[in-house]
Amino acid sequence: MAEIGFIGLGNMGGPMARNLKAAGHAVKGFDVMPAAVEAARDAGIETVDSAAAAADGVEAVFTMLPAGRHVRAVYLGADDQAGVIAAARKGTVMIDSSTIDVASARAVHAAAAEAGMPMVDAPVSGGVGGAEAGTLTMMVGGPDAAFAAAKPYLEIVGGRVIHAGGPGNGQVAKVCNNMILGITMIANAEAFTLAEKLGLDPKVLFDISSTSSGSNWAMLNHNPVPGVVETAAANRDYMPGFSTAMMHKDLQLAQAAAQEAGAATPLGAEAAALYTLFANAGHGDLDYSAIIKLIAAED
Ligand code: NAD
Repeated sequence: MAEIGFIGLGNMGGPMARNLKAAGHAVKGFDVMPAAVEAARDAGIETVDSAAAAADGVEAVFTMLPAGRHVRAVYLGADDQAGVIAAARKGTVMIDSSTIDVASARAVHAAAAEAGMPMVDAPVSGGVGGAEAGTLTMMVGGPDAAFAAAKPYLEIVGGRVIHAGGPGNGQVAKVCNNMILGITMIANAEAFTLAEKLGLDPKVLFDISSTSSGSNWAMLNHNPVPGVVETAAANRDYMPGFSTAMMHKDLQLAQAAAQEAGAATPLGAEAAALYTLFANAGHGDLDYSAIIKLIAAED
């Protein structure tokens, strides 16, 4: 049994912390939102008053936070708030599972390495359902020794744990994967809308394309047209699922990374712009497959 600090007890962090506790570890949780703290306490998790207190004296620290600025503040410290790196004892394993920009991830990695803390970035895919079931896919970046130290903990919250390479490479894998997903969803939305306007039944297009060269994961699993794939969010008035807001965030992160790397991602840029339009029109809470409403110019 280990003592683990868990910072960020929201939709994803809450169930991940519960799974670590259920696996027999002692978890010290912290969140800035009273409701998240209360929910963790109701689940039998000890809660503390600061990120530094959660990191004090533990073997491992998890963070599951909204964005890069929160991750920087929690690890490096901010204003009068002590950072986790300064508060933890040397050798504490640090695992950031937030989805954040590659530059912030690498900056925090560098500070952790300098302080003698093995660190990995381990963003996830699988959503709240995956967090609850402990089946998340974990895309992990960090030195080999840090990956080896973090793996036993990652295997509790995740079903698949993949070492993607050095510091920040988990975030790189995450944004590249989701850029493919965003672009292919828009391709599906365009093709299914065009087919319908030309008088081709979407189910017939699905029967053909799903076993032809146009087949893709988003089409098979998250088909944007109601009545085509039974389990798709399109059949639940586009209740997520994976929200437009989340897809929008990940496409923005991909664009920031592309700019920094000098990589040309014209379709990624277009996908980001379309999801910005759709999110700004007030549809952030809908599943990302609802982008077909924008493409088909429906209400
Ligand atoms: P959330 O907003 O529900 O949870 C984030 C929590 O962090 C909140 O409870 C917030 O109060 C807390 N927080 C913010 N600043 C803090 C600080 N300084 N100290 C302590 N706590 C702080 O978000 P979520 O859905 O749990 O997502 C967390 C991360 O996981 C995000 O980076 C998101 O992109 C990523 N992610 C989410 C999903 C999903 O389906 N929800 C899927 C994959 C990845």
